Amino acid sequence: MDLFTLTVINAFIALVATGVLAFQEQADRQFRYQRYFLLAGICMLLNASISAIHYGGIALPYWLLPALSNSLSVGANIALAAGIHRHLQKPGKRFGLLLLFVVLFLLNLTDFARSDINHRFYLNIPIVLLLNFWCIYMLWPHRKAELGKVYLAFIATFGFNIIQFAGRSAYMALEQQQLVSTSIAPLVHNIGFFALTAFAILVFCCIILLSHSQQRLMLQQLSERDALTGLLNRRTMDIRLSAELSRSQRQQKTLSFLLLDADHFKQINDNFGHAAGDLALQHIAKLADQQLRDYDLLFRYGGEEFLLCLPDTDAQTAIHIADRLRQIINSSPLFLPQPYFLTVSIGVASSQHLDNWKTLLQQADEALYQAKRMGRNQVTLYQAA
Ligand code: GH3
Ligand code: MG
Ligand code: MG
Repeated sequence: MDLFTLTVINAFIALVATGVLAFQEQADRQFRYQRYFLLAGICMLLNASISAIHYGGIALPYWLLPALSNSLSVGANIALAAGIHRHLQKPGKRFGLLLLFVVLFLLNLTDFARSDINHRFYLNIPIVLLLNFWCIYMLWPHRKAELGKVYLAFIATFGFNIIQFAGRSAYMALEQQQLVSTSIAPLVHNIGFFALTAFAILVFCCIILLSHSQQRLMLQQLSERDALTGLLNRRTMDIRLSAELSRSQRQQKTLSFLLLDADHFKQINDNFGHAAGDLALQHIAKLADQQLRDYDLLFRYGGEEFLLCLPDTDAQTAIHIADRLRQIINSSPLFLPQPYFLTVSIGVASSQHLDNWKTLLQQADEALYQAKRMGRNQVTLYQAA
């Protein structure tokens, strides 16, 4: 395929991608990072259009092609890095990235850049590689997060870009040393062209995947999570606990419930206000969450009541965990702003042979009632009469 056709195809792909990104940016205004991805699309579109005009036979001034065209190519990578930086809510301003683009454009106008295509290549490519590495560096620690699979797709895409640029740079270095035949140069050039198109398509797919996955995650969290504490809400209990109970029965393991209720909670609201009460609930939720293992479940069961579901945990261990949690809550002051020490009562129930989680919850509730009756700030195990 001739270069004119290739660049027109590139421009068309960039146009479609940019159009979709613009539409999406308008539709989901809450994802602010999308405007950076839109900017990347615009850079790619402008770059492809300039190239198409050039290969269409129209002579363009140096500042437009290659100077601006090269800068736009790097600019797309700058905008992608800024989008990821924004999405991950990394600290720091992204203004420096705009400055990088301007400086790069000016450097492309210097005599050094003008004199040789290799000089321009070695001016622009290391920056693209650094930007791509930076993106991978930002995304890598989040690969196990809820959007981790999407981040891995981004990492693979940036990895692909690094490899193709590194390969081409190596080829150019060898060519300069006259270590490879120049007859394959057009082939390398075409492969490079295709690789850039492939990178643009892959990155576009990752961006679309990211906003869809994030939207799905947000909806899921809205329906499953309690707005104040971020814990699982009561609505999800039936599905989660039924699944946990059948797993325990299948594996013949003991399942334990801890039902936790803050003591004299009304006093906090009465003495310090409802906002202080809310803070206290977040405080308890955070401390309880820190104590959990990966496979434990923590629900906000009611106003100031929390339910912990501990799979594969016998009664003795459950009591031990409950008492540790009680002590931690009691020894971690809440600043209102003067230190305030909360206490909680916890009812524990354990079973290996139940066919309804509601029975276990009822037993934990009875145990909690006992703990309250015996003076609060304690843990009580349910004992069958
Ligand atoms: P006890 O030791 O017997 O548990 O006493 P208590 O005061 O904790 O018990 P009670 O059930 O009488 O009061 C619970 C209080 O929790 C009443 C309610 O106003 C408060 N509460 C429930 N949900 C929330 C909430 O989301 N925010 C705030 N600030 N308070 C809440
Ligand atoms: Mg209470
Ligand atoms: Mg209560």
